[in-house]
Amino acid sequence: MNRQQGILFVISGPSGVGKGTALKRICENVGNISVNVSVTTRKPRKGEINGIHYTFISKKEFNNLVKEDGMYEYVEVLDCGYGTPKKPVDDKLNSGEDVILEIETIGAEKIRTMRETVNIFIAPPSITELKRRLIERQTETDEQIEKRLAKCMTELPCMYKYDYV
Ligand code: 5GP
Repeated sequence: MNRQQGILFVISGPSGVGKGTALKRICENVGNISVNVSVTTRKPRKGEINGIHYTFISKKEFNNLVKEDGMYEYVEVLDCGYGTPKKPVDDKLNSGEDVILEIETIGAEKIRTMRETVNIFIAPPSITELKRRLIERQTETDEQIEKRLAKCMTELPCMYKYDYV
């Protein structure tokens, strides 16, 4: 690995598993590292800030980024587009800063074929506990919670592709 370049970390794990909390602690305690801001067509949740949690864009803007080859990877999750814009990631890595991508398993698999990455999967203690946390955070409807749990069941088998769980 070229030491002048930053390290690209990929972190995945089901919705509600606590990735946000873990990442906040990492960024507070480790220097020269930041979480990349993904673009999404999803509407902001309560408390989410544009440019910090995500860059919230329209479907048209998302499609333009795809056409311009401006993203390392992108996926549709529960009818919303999510993607990793290339430029901010490249700029940070080239300046020697480490970058964390907090992305789901399909996008993670794509990016692994394109760049050298360190891959971390955060697994829930159990599905029951994950459901409890999703209900507790009160940001999704019952239907959305069921969809997120269903997605979780497709993500757990991908764990073995990661360097650390
Ligand atoms: P949420 O709507 O809960 O913020 O995110 C839903 C899922 O999309 C999470 O699993 C999250 O990791 C994933 N995600 C967020 N940004 C990206 C991205 O840029 N690319 C991919 N592939 N997944 C993302």
